[in-house]
Amino acid sequence: MIHADLLKITQEFGSPVYVYDSEKITKQYKRLTEAFKKVKHLRLHYAVKALSNLSILRLFNQLGSALDTVSIQEVRLGIAAGFEPGKIIFTPNGVSMEELEEAVELGVQINIDNLLILEQFGAKHPSVPVCIRINPHVMAGGNTNISVGHIDSKFGISIHQMPHVLRIVENTSMNINGIHMHTGSDILDIGVFLHAAEILFDAAAQFKNLEFLDFGSGFKVPYHEGDIETDVEELGAKLTKRFNEFCKSYGRELTLAFEPGKFLVSEAGLFLAKVNVVKQTTSTVFAQIDSGFNHLIRPMFYGSKHDIINISHPKRNKRFYSVVGYICETDTFANNKMISEISEGDILAFKNAGAYCYSMASNYNSRFRPPEVLWHKGKAHLIRQRETFEDIMRNQIEVAL
Ligand SMILES: *Cc1c(COP(=O)(O)O)cnc(C)c1O
Repeated sequence: MIHADLLKITQEFGSPVYVYDSEKITKQYKRLTEAFKKVKHLRLHYAVKALSNLSILRLFNQLGSALDTVSIQEVRLGIAAGFEPGKIIFTPNGVSMEELEEAVELGVQINIDNLLILEQFGAKHPSVPVCIRINPHVMAGGNTNISVGHIDSKFGISIHQMPHVLRIVENTSMNINGIHMHTGSDILDIGVFLHAAEILFDAAAQFKNLEFLDFGSGFKVPYHEGDIETDVEELGAKLTKRFNEFCKSYGRELTLAFEPGKFLVSEAGLFLAKVNVVKQTTSTVFAQIDSGFNHLIRPMFYGSKHDIINISHPKRNKRFYSVVGYICETDTFANNKMISEISEGDILAFKNAGAYCYSMASNYNSRFRPPEVLWHKGKAHLIRQRETFEDIMRNQIEVAL
């Protein structure tokens, strides 16, 4: 996608707008597959929550991907996009038995992350295969908002509770066919990740009927120039070796599964917004766009630093800007950011807007959620229209007061 294509998209579909490049998604999918090509049975479960548009799910289905889902609604979306239920893993946390049973009825792979439900489920459905989510208590990275494998995390069954897990499995004769971990933190130190993998192997060795081991995700992608990323090729080489050794000692060829979200879609997405006002104050220059954290909350929620380019005037001299939104709240996208000199009406492109951007958007300030466009084979396809005032009114019930 060149700047002219993007500007045309804002003319055709208005601003703000999300744009996704199918070619980049495909490239990332192939890169990860290639890094693990020496694993006999590899399965990538795209994490739906990163970007859950149906057309994106269809693209993943075409690529041969499986899905990772965290709610029954995501399961339904996957099925609606044409996925066979057997290729969908349901990895919720803290959901009710009723929701799990809906998933059983839909025929998807169940993944359980607490002892209470494991016991109830095993007693009720001993023949339904279940994967167990363990928490290896490995602390990687420093951000506890996105790090879910550490000791105080709510996710997974503590590795120290394995004796209790085994007792439940024995008492109920349930069928455990997979072991899972998802630490949630970025894989930056491959040594730390391999350490967690060893804990998973130790846990796995205690079950007789496994079909797969699921290593979750945590693939970090670069957000700005010079940013660090997961070396997937190094991870591929090292984990493949250990995984193949484990299969040998286990006595069966297991499937190695991953659940990448961000890695597959983050860099494929751009968020395009228009500058409404350039406002000079005594200390800074604000560029105020026609959006806010209602459309893109990652910078405010996680402190993510999305790169921002003035695609209307990319060649002008750069100046320092505070890029902010138009909602009645502090909604700073970037501070002291060097951007080519901005005029009112210019279009800014926010990079890495594929993952956890649209899917976290809201109607705060009663604004419409933006449209989504898929750039596929040199053409722009509208894959979700901008909301309208009817969407804001829908489901509201006016009582006579
Ligand atoms: C969110 C999530 C993922 C995807 O994580 P990314 O960082 O986007 O790759 C994978 N597995 C589970 C269980 C998740 O909750």
